[in-house]
Amino acid sequence: MSAATVRNPAVRRLADWSAERLRALADDHGTPLYVLDLDRVRQNYRRMADAFPEAEVYYAAKANTARPVLRALADEGAGIECASAGELARVLDAREAQCASDARAGRDDPRAGVAGSRVHYTAVNPPDRDLDVAVRLADDHPGLTITVGAADTLDRLAERGYDGRICLRVNPGVGAGHHEKVATGADAKFGVPYDRAADLAEDATARFEVVGLHAHAGSGISGEDLSAHRELVSRMGDLAREVESQDVELEFVDVGGGFGVPYRPDEDPLDLDAVAAATREALGEVDATLAVEPGRYLVADAGVLLTAVNTVKEAGDGAVVGVGAGMTTLARPALYDAHHEMRNVSADAERRPDREVTVAGPVCESADTFGDHWLADPERGDLLAIGNSGAYGYEMANQYNSRPRPASVVLDGDDVRVARRRETIADVTAVEPEDQA
Ligand SMILES: *Cc1c(COP(=O)(O)O)cnc(C)c1O
Repeated sequence: MSAATVRNPAVRRLADWSAERLRALADDHGTPLYVLDLDRVRQNYRRMADAFPEAEVYYAAKANTARPVLRALADEGAGIECASAGELARVLDAREAQCASDARAGRDDPRAGVAGSRVHYTAVNPPDRDLDVAVRLADDHPGLTITVGAADTLDRLAERGYDGRICLRVNPGVGAGHHEKVATGADAKFGVPYDRAADLAEDATARFEVVGLHAHAGSGISGEDLSAHRELVSRMGDLAREVESQDVELEFVDVGGGFGVPYRPDEDPLDLDAVAAATREALGEVDATLAVEPGRYLVADAGVLLTAVNTVKEAGDGAVVGVGAGMTTLARPALYDAHHEMRNVSADAERRPDREVTVAGPVCESADTFGDHWLADPERGDLLAIGNSGAYGYEMANQYNSRPRPASVVLDGDDVRVARRRETIADVTAVEPEDQA
């Protein structure tokens, strides 16, 4: 192992977290609690930037929009890829994203402090309201790039008087993903058809500044399906050369995100250098700069979700362990059959024998389960840590069952900052008009 690998390992496993620190955080902030370590986010970014030194790295903010995460990555030099007007407002605009607590405390500027020229907005069937906000923000931040995946979206932007920077999202016709619901590359919903892309790009130059081409194959580039990634990149290289030969000057070719992380302890981490080499080779010679958009890769293993055992029920020859977190806290298992490692981090857990149990949440839905896990024999009151929860964890949390969303804290060295306070039941009902019978 090289010194660099020791300082910045390719993966942080659930076993690497200090049980003692996690217990202290749960004592101070209650459970369920999302915990995210900013140092690990920075390490992940540096590994990515080192593997792709010639590329622009845009963080796909939808994986985790906590303000300290956006700030830390922007400070490291990342651009930000936004999926909605809400994400744009968080990144760019103080007024749109003004937090009530900031306003009350007289704190200024809740923006993540990212320059408009470092921000891409990827518009997928964008609602009118999103386009209105994006066009207004582009007025203040002319460096903003809007990534468009349908001819209709170009027309809708032109109708709003937009004539700024456009990137054309292309449907590469190849998809990758750990589950069919996250393989977007071959789904007609995403991007303009590949055969129409060169003409559309050329036509668009009459109304906009066409600066890039984009494709995103979905999530889960792993060692095994590098061939799908290669195929996508090579098609984008061909297209870029065709577009460049039509005298459209492209600044960048964005080949999307989807860099996988190991969710199971026996899975190997992605060999980023191999992915980068394959990407370079498949892209071939283009004048434009390569861009990548990792989301999960930068934040997944930087986060854990802490939850308390409230019920241990013997059933047949197994046991069901009931915990406070459920599908409303961490939706991925219910949505994608995703596996998340679990560990009993209670003080005396290490002395107990392991036992296979089914872990389930508090929601009255059979999908509300985290599956079967080997855990140090769980007892009521134990604290469990759920691994790889930094990506698409808090972001997908919702209030189904009138359940307030959990708190989230961010670790920065020894510092602990509350990124999201725990919601109350009053927060859940706050949007209802008071005079309703
Ligand atoms: C979600 C998304 C990403 C990030 O995907 P990850 O699997 O988290 O890396 C990148 N680009 C686009 C357009 C996306 O929608």
